[in-house]
Amino acid sequence: MQGLTGKPPIHGETLETLTAALKEHGEKPFRARQILEWLYKKRAATADEMTNLSKPLRAWLAETYEFAPTARLGAKTSSDVTDKFLLRLQDKSLIETVIIRAPQEGVGQDRSRKTVCISTQVGCAYGCKFCASGLAGWKRDLSAGEIVHQLIQVCRQEDPLTPRASDEIASFDNIVVMGMGEPLANYDNLLRALGIVNADWGLNLGARRITVSTSGLAPQIERLSQEPLGLRLAISLHGATDEVRQQIMPVNRKYPLEKLLPAAKTFADRHGRMITLEFILIREINDSMEQARALTKIARDLHAHVNLIPYNKVEGLPWVRPEIPRQDAFANVLREGRVSVTIRREKGHDINAACGQLRLQTEMAEGTIAPVPAKARA
Ligand code: SAH
Ligand code: SF4
Repeated sequence: MQGLTGKPPIHGETLETLTAALKEHGEKPFRARQILEWLYKKRAATADEMTNLSKPLRAWLAETYEFAPTARLGAKTSSDVTDKFLLRLQDKSLIETVIIRAPQEGVGQDRSRKTVCISTQVGCAYGCKFCASGLAGWKRDLSAGEIVHQLIQVCRQEDPLTPRASDEIASFDNIVVMGMGEPLANYDNLLRALGIVNADWGLNLGARRITVSTSGLAPQIERLSQEPLGLRLAISLHGATDEVRQQIMPVNRKYPLEKLLPAAKTFADRHGRMITLEFILIREINDSMEQARALTKIARDLHAHVNLIPYNKVEGLPWVRPEIPRQDAFANVLREGRVSVTIRREKGHDINAACGQLRLQTEMAEGTIAPVPAKARA
C-alpha cells in the first residue's frame, strides 16, 4: 500500500528487498545495510542525513521512498502513565499508537518498563459490539512501513539521543498489537513489519517481547503457529460459551469455540509458551459466575493465562463495567480453579485508552464520521 505521494515507505523494506532495489539501480549491495543502520540505529529521518552515501544515492532514495508515512497530530498524556499518539497517514486516515509505562520496583520513572500498542488497520471489519475501532467499519489495511513507522515515532519521542550506544535499538521493552484493527486480517503486512522489528538490522527486538492479539481468526492462528518468528499470542475471548460470545462478537459465527479453541491449542502446543485469553468484563453480558466457571475450564484445557479487563466505556455504546466486588468474585472463581489470572485495572482510562476511541472522537469532531446511536449497536 502506497501513500498519496505514490512512494512506498522505506520502513517497509527488508534487507533483502532493499538490496535487490539497490542492485537494480546499479548500486553496491552493501549499501543496504548502511541505509538500514541510518534508519534504525542512527534514527535518520531523511535521506539527506545519511552522510556516508553519495549525493546521487541520497537523491535517489528521497525520490524513490517515503520517509514519513505517519505524521503526529499531537499526544495526550494521561494523569497516570499512558501516552497516546494520534497519527495521520498520507491519505488523511487516522490511527493510534499508545505507550504504556509500568514503573519498576526501586527504579525511577525514566527506567519504567515501556509497552507500545500499535494499530494494524484503519478501522476494523469485525464489528465487535463493545469496540470503538469497529464502529465506522474497515477502511484499509496498514502497509508494513506504516506499522513500523508507529514505532519510529515512539523511539523519537522517548529517546532523541542518537546514535544508539548499545544493541538496544528500540526505546521500549514490549509491543502489543492491540491497537486499531484485526492484525491477523492483515497477515502478510503484519508479519513483514514484525520481521523488520525483530531483525538485527531493524529494531532488534526479540519476538518474545511481541504479543499479537486476535479476535479469533482460527485459520490464521494455525498459520501463525507455523511461523518461525515465535511471537506471543493473545485471544480476545470475551465470552466463554458460543451463546454469550456470539452476542457481542459477530466473528464467533464464522469461528465458533469448536473451531477457535483447537487452533489456540495448536499454537500453544507448538510454542510451548502460555497464550493469554483476554476477557473484557461487561455488566450483565458476560460477568456471571457460570461464565467464570466455563472460562476456567477453557483456560485449564489450554493452559492459558487469563487477563480480565473491566470494560472501558465507549461514547454512544450502552455497555458498562461491573462493580469491583463482582470483578473480584469473577477472578476468584478462576483462582480457585488454579488458573493464572490478572485484572487489568487499565491505565490511561481518563484519556480513552481503549482501542480506537481517540480516533473516533477526532473524526466525529471533524465531521468525517457520524456517531452511531447506542440502540443500533445493541
Ligand atoms: N482486533 C484485535 C486487536 C485489537 S483490540 C482483537 O480484537 O484482539 C485489542 C483489545 O482491546 C481486544 O481484546 C479488545 O476486545 C479490547 N477492547 C476493545 N474495546 C474495548 C473497550 N471498550 N474496553 C476494554 N477493552 C476493549
Ligand atoms: Fe476489531 Fe478487535 Fe475491535 Fe473486534 S475488538 S472490532 S476485532 S479491533
